[in-house]
Amino acid sequence: MSLTDIKSLNISELTELLTSRGHQRFRADQIYSWLHQKCVTSFSEMTNIPKKLLSDLESICYISVANIEKKLVSSYDNTIKYLFVFPDGEYVEAVVMDYRHGYSMCISTQVGCKMGCTFCATGKGGFTRNLTAGEMLSQIHTAQKDLGIRISNVVLMGMGEPLDNFQNVVRFIRLATDEKGLNLSARHITLSTCGLVPKIYELADLNIPITLSLSLHAPNDEIRSKTMPVNKKYPLAEVFKACRYYADTTGRRITYEYAMISGVNDSDDCARQLAQHIRGTLCHVNLIPVNPVEGTGYNPSKDKRLTSFVSVLSGYNINATVRRTLGSDINASCGQLRGKNLKNKGGV
Ligand code: SAH
Ligand code: SF4
Repeated sequence: MSLTDIKSLNISELTELLTSRGHQRFRADQIYSWLHQKCVTSFSEMTNIPKKLLSDLESICYISVANIEKKLVSSYDNTIKYLFVFPDGEYVEAVVMDYRHGYSMCISTQVGCKMGCTFCATGKGGFTRNLTAGEMLSQIHTAQKDLGIRISNVVLMGMGEPLDNFQNVVRFIRLATDEKGLNLSARHITLSTCGLVPKIYELADLNIPITLSLSLHAPNDEIRSKTMPVNKKYPLAEVFKACRYYADTTGRRITYEYAMISGVNDSDDCARQLAQHIRGTLCHVNLIPVNPVEGTGYNPSKDKRLTSFVSVLSGYNINATVRRTLGSDINASCGQLRGKNLKNKGGV
């Protein structure tokens, strides 16, 4: 029988588990608090719980942990990058950013990714497995403990496609926003997707007020299908329709991510095509000079191109900002560090 990831259970599931084994209900609150507020990594740390109960739990459950394999601190800004390892030996990456309004953390939702975007280091490595909700929480728990801080913003923009791990990601969001847990505000959680259309509708219908960030990276199907294979299944017209539905249902503004790749998607004409699609909608465009990944042959657009692209968009009253890649000296673009670690160990 496989063990249950106890950190992935919500309070009613935990209560149900305990009472079904003859334990008292009030123990559920205590154990939940050890897991989600004190963030313990072993049952033996739960000092107010009877030993007998703990050994019973240990026979059917485990506590997920994200251990620090590597930690890099950027010398430009205070960005910190973690390479975490799970007990099964799989790695994921996460980044902590120090913003004026608090600490923001970018976490991973899968080991690898199936989507195969041509510019992405994670995509190049293929897919290994989904993360559990407990493993997503554990990345935050470990960083908070390591740095002695509270994370107030979370972005699901690390390794993996969150909507391809829908159930676990929604479970994570519900646990992370629980006031008896990390108590994050849903408004401070951003989910980034390459555009899995049916799942965008499903997410919208849950009506959780998180921010949806859509990885666009191209203004037409021709370019997008070349760099993002997912576009062949869900072309742009469907993606924009789903995004409009998301914005209308949740009242939340959509963020479009657009990695500027020199000579591929960064012309003024591309900006005009992009504007035609999104003008008049509740949105914001984030332009990011593409982070060069070995073997892709892609280069970031020059500053002059970026400025010109922004000014075309603002001509259509579209809000666009250029986001400098944080911590570029520490491979802060997700997937790059794991790739390096595997290479050093004789992997991909
Ligand atoms: N799978 C999700 C979330 C993880 S990727 C998604 O694609 O949205 C997080 C973000 O990093 C996405 O916007 C993705 O397109 C972007 N990204 C991936 N590789 C990049 C690179 N080399 N340079 C800049 N952005 C990149
Ligand atoms: Fe997957 Fe996102 Fe990378 Fe595309 S950009 S391969 S969807 S992680």
